[in-house]
Amino acid sequence: MKITAITATPIAFADPPLLNFAGLHQPYALRTIVEVETDAGISGFGEVAGGDRLQEAFAQAIPHLVGMDAFNRQAIRQKLFGTEGTDDTHQIMPGMTDQRRRELVYSAIEVALLDAAGKALGLPVHALLGGKVRDTVDFSAYLFYKHEGGGGIGTDARDDVYGPALDPDGVVRQAQAFIDGYGFKSIKLKGGVFPPEQEMEAMRAMHAAFGDGVPLRLDPNGAWTVETSVRVGLGLDGILEYLEDPASTMDDMAATRGELVHKGVMTPLATNMVVTRFERIAEAFEKDAVQIILSDHHIWGGLQATRELGRICESFDFGLSMHSNSHLGISLMAMTHVAAATPSLTYACDTHYPWQFAEDEVIQGGRVQFEDGAVRVPDTPGLGIEIDRDNLARLHERYVKGSIRERDDASYMRERVDPAFSPDPARW
Ligand SMILES: [Mg+2]
Repeated sequence: MKITAITATPIAFADPPLLNFAGLHQPYALRTIVEVETDAGISGFGEVAGGDRLQEAFAQAIPHLVGMDAFNRQAIRQKLFGTEGTDDTHQIMPGMTDQRRRELVYSAIEVALLDAAGKALGLPVHALLGGKVRDTVDFSAYLFYKHEGGGGIGTDARDDVYGPALDPDGVVRQAQAFIDGYGFKSIKLKGGVFPPEQEMEAMRAMHAAFGDGVPLRLDPNGAWTVETSVRVGLGLDGILEYLEDPASTMDDMAATRGELVHKGVMTPLATNMVVTRFERIAEAFEKDAVQIILSDHHIWGGLQATRELGRICESFDFGLSMHSNSHLGISLMAMTHVAAATPSLTYACDTHYPWQFAEDEVIQGGRVQFEDGAVRVPDTPGLGIEIDRDNLARLHERYVKGSIRERDDASYMRERVDPAFSPDPARW
């Protein structure tokens, strides 16, 4: 089965004004929908981050891949990255210098290739990854401090489904709405927005509201000093399932861990910031900087690489969870398949999916359904979804006509909330 064409379509979809360490989510989030066409008449689909710079990277990569064997993902990866040990100058995409963008490009194409291969063979993607070890994949409620508004602009504005959440009461209300709507059994709060004492208050309020049976996580994206990280770890001892990226560097995470253990606090530290590449795992282990790694197939180089990460985490006795960015149903199903096929992925996965809207979905049949906080793992061929081409065209048109070309939370924060805003690490 040969690749006859690859299309990378940039899209924009409505996104509510969610707060994080970097600023405020813009009214539209950007993604890229990738279609790989084959000479068997079968297409596969993938989804990844969006924006013009990534478009350039796809434009550089695609011509080199057309005509290649759609089943030989290894050869396609080598084409994009060069063979191991090869000098960087030999790589085929001189403009695409940073590893992260290459991983993003490859991961979307890899998912599309697995989708196409699955359809050709009559097998679900999880079977191509070695087989599923669970029939449902648990996801976590992913809460954000949030201003009023549902996303979109003008006549394209969305309803504000969850309302504002700017204090502990607002966070508990949002958590309850997520649990009522989706049945989530664990909760993560995106922190690093307000002074740590207020965010600790929100975690205590959720613990009081939902009890020990609902695991809680807090993720300030490295917004704290070591001293603050230790203070929060001590203050929330016994309440947190894990503390995610309290500090922003490997050494500061290690120092936080050392101090907490010294004080008898064993809350694990998790990361999707200081360990985002295989090369960083050994250092994290040596320094005991993190105990849980958040996978993300978009960033770690695809579904196969995520499976491999799972195996490595078992070897090092790291826990494995999953990170998310704003995404639609193709990514959600890719996440579901790889989580189902990765035995060591035992934590409920992050997902932004509840923040998006049915009218912005690109898969047929509307939104992927959650039951008891979980997505059922499909056994139909490929990812188990079909594309709604009309909606894809509509979302692409919105990208083309819109003004957002790269995600820029900091600028939107300055424009809408605080003209003096700056996302400095170790703000507190
Ligand atoms: Mg994180």
